[in-house]
Amino acid sequence: MRDSVKGANVIEVFSSIQGEGKYVGYRQLFVRFEGCNLKCDYCDTEHEAGSHERCRIESVIGSQNFSFYDNPVDCDFLADEINSMLLALPHHAASITGGEPLMESDYLFKLLPNINAPILLETNGTMPRELKMLLPMVDIISMDIKLPSEVNRELWDLHRDFLRIASEKDLYVKIVVADETKDDELRRAFELIASIDNNIPLILQPVTPKGMSNKPSAKKIMGAQKIALSALRDVRIIPQTHVMMNLL
Ligand code: SF4
Repeated sequence: MRDSVKGANVIEVFSSIQGEGKYVGYRQLFVRFEGCNLKCDYCDTEHEAGSHERCRIESVIGSQNFSFYDNPVDCDFLADEINSMLLALPHHAASITGGEPLMESDYLFKLLPNINAPILLETNGTMPRELKMLLPMVDIISMDIKLPSEVNRELWDLHRDFLRIASEKDLYVKIVVADETKDDELRRAFELIASIDNNIPLILQPVTPKGMSNKPSAKKIMGAQKIALSALRDVRIIPQTHVMMNLL
């Protein structure tokens, strides 16, 4: 099955700074896959399957000038493109993102060993079986916890299984906080992380307002950090910094 994997729908490949989470500010190469298994109200990616006929790849790194290629993109071709960009400038990591990149786990199984950089996986933390398969190929995991009121379903069990597996790696957890975010859901998320390891870094990310999600007040976000610090040792508030700088 895996040997027969040829193509995946890729939205874009570009070089920028990591704008979120524990490694904010580092230069990374982003590979964004199409498709997601969730539908968050504040989502900033058009990830519907089949919505991108073509993939755009930055022609000169950091230039925001792109060349376009038909989707699905061949795995060997993509690896060559990524590695030539990595040769042009040292990057902290290749950030595999989406959508939900684990939707393309068979493709990643073939792609990741051929990328000449540490691999950072950005994931919504709901596909533990796929993570387990790819774990030896991944160096850093940026895992979101999605609260029930954001996605209209409970994901606690999937998040718990995912956390257990991911905690073997350099892992940090990100939770988006809006003014409407419920404290009891936040509390449950903090306790879930602490039940695996209370040293796992937690990033509280004030939502970049979109749809029904409003920016949290100072009281809301500081209050969320206060609740988190009763369960976890490393809790930081970091907004989407690339948005502030108009970077990709
Ligand atoms: S998990 Fe991420 S990509 Fe998927 S809908 Fe939510 S914000 Fe968008």
